[in-house]
Amino acid sequence: MVVVLDASSLSKGWQPGPNDSVFTSRSVWAEILLGGTPCFEVKVEQPSRRSVSSVLETAIATGDDARLSRADVDLIALAMDARGTLITEDFSIQNIAEVLEIPWTSIGTPMTEVRKWRYRCKGCLKVFEESHDACPVCGAALRTYGGSRR
Ligand SMILES: [Zn+2]
Repeated sequence: MVVVLDASSLSKGWQPGPNDSVFTSRSVWAEILLGGTPCFEVKVEQPSRRSVSSVLETAIATGDDARLSRADVDLIALAMDARGTLITEDFSIQNIAEVLEIPWTSIGTPMTEVRKWRYRCKGCLKVFEESHDACPVCGAALRTYGGSRR
């Protein structure tokens, strides 16, 4: 199986099976190396620009864009290119993978439903569907609010 590995799963002790070929993006590889060199072979590749932009578009649509690092976006895009299974413990990565119909697995508890993030004002506590730099009502800062999509 082609797997695309996130640093979050490796740090929790993920190990490949005998038939797995393990890929990761250059940016995630840099994160992985911070925790030491893995004791199995990892192929480091860059995702295509086309996949990166479709991941970014989807992340904006689901409200995950503020939670995803560039490394996260690269990893999801690489999974699209490689037609591999994402291995990640990161909730936002899992969310995007669900929307893009990329197979994923984790060694922790998998999420059960696709969630759409919302934004709640710290001042007036109003909840918005989309991100704003400041609250359109009172001008205070917004924070992510993890409401389930219905
Ligand atoms: Zn407000």
